[in-house]
Amino acid sequence: MGFPNIIIVGGGLNGLGCAKRLTEKGVPFTLITENIGGRVKMSPDGETNYGAYYITADCHTIMPYIKKMNLVHFAKAHFHQGKKQYRVYSFRMIKHIPAAIRLLIEIFRFRHHVQKIRKQAFHTAYRDLIESDPYLKKYYHQKAGVFIKQHGLENFTKEYLEQFLWAAYFTDPREVSTSIFLGVLLTLIVPSYSFVFQFDKLIAPFKKRITCDTVTEISRGRDKRFTLKTASGKSHRCDILVLATPMNITNTLVTPQKIKGGINVNYYHIRGKIKKKYDVKWYSFFPIKDEAVISREANGTYLYFYGRKDRIVHYFDSWEVITKDAWRPALFFLGDEYIDEQPEPNLFLANDHNVPSTEDAFINGHYVANLILKQL
Ligand SMILES: Cc1cc2nc3c(=O)[nH]c(=O)nc-3n(C[C@H](O)[C@H](O)[C@H](O)COP(=O)(O)OP(=O)(O)OC[C@H]3O[C@@H](n4cnc5c(N)ncnc54)[C@H](O)[C@@H]3O)c2cc1C
Repeated sequence: MGFPNIIIVGGGLNGLGCAKRLTEKGVPFTLITENIGGRVKMSPDGETNYGAYYITADCHTIMPYIKKMNLVHFAKAHFHQGKKQYRVYSFRMIKHIPAAIRLLIEIFRFRHHVQKIRKQAFHTAYRDLIESDPYLKKYYHQKAGVFIKQHGLENFTKEYLEQFLWAAYFTDPREVSTSIFLGVLLTLIVPSYSFVFQFDKLIAPFKKRITCDTVTEISRGRDKRFTLKTASGKSHRCDILVLATPMNITNTLVTPQKIKGGINVNYYHIRGKIKKKYDVKWYSFFPIKDEAVISREANGTYLYFYGRKDRIVHYFDSWEVITKDAWRPALFFLGDEYIDEQPEPNLFLANDHNVPSTEDAFINGHYVANLILKQL
């Protein structure tokens, strides 16, 4: 049987999930990408994650490619408020116990719903699964600020959750959806790990199909076929196109769709001497107005993420920069728009816009491949 020409653009977990599924079904394709991993990005020494940092034990689809590193211990985290410093297990926590119990009940409920839809998401769009589940639908469209008020979690959020959550998505948690809020808090009830993603193992079966390049322009002929121009000056034609690029990029390449707002974040990876009051074993969380989080990595280096203001001198006495970079954007968390994964019969969009996370990106890539397979 002759197959149509298929091109996947983007080698993050969406593009790789799609490539893996097509390979399993013996369908040929070309994958054009700037890099492998996208927002799962390791430091040059292969020990520190600059993008996605944690996975939970519920991430069954990516787990075969994961080398687990350290178990997340919230007990080791330090919270800073001006001159004050406190830990999770402290007298301060006692007054929050009723709120914590109310929150834990919701997180367990949320997990049950997420686990159910993840099983179906290989063959059904996340949007359809969420919209047909009244619990998830409500929380996808409701801001976490409303949920926090309704569940009497304001004080608990102020003293503990907002600092930790800024570190997870770099904005005030009240501004994101309740589903994002609860999704990140799954780490409170499911064992979670820092990790090394073994991309070599994942791409081995289709490595020869990967081309390293940047797609700069896409046009269509009368025959509906796509022509892709790349930064290296090459031109590629295809019958079926999968754009597995983040939606801000996708919108520059094909007819734009309305998307959620992105959140930018900057980071330093440094070797250095941290100020004494921030010299802790693992994470230092700060009030959200400080827009900062510092993690002490297993090898003694530091990862410092910050929002608008670079305050490295405030936290460190001296430092040597290993890497300084930014994610622009890191995540699409502001708003509740969905994007359409198949805006045209031969154009597929595979990305983490509707549901973010490494596991969901990989599952979504499989879903898009299954849509294509149905058409062949
Ligand atoms: C700082 C940060 C922390 C995070 N923390 C976590 C976490 O702890 N746990 C978790 O589960 N998730 C986390 N995430 C989210 C997770 O990383 C993403 O949801 C997921 O990796 C998205 O995968 P993707 O394939 O959709 O997109 P991407 O990973 O962005 O992949 C897009 C791909 O497209 C390529 N590309 C872009 N433009 C072009 C072009 N013009 N031509 C060719 N190729 C192109 C890129 O090089 C890349 O390979 C985090 C993300 C960030 C940024």
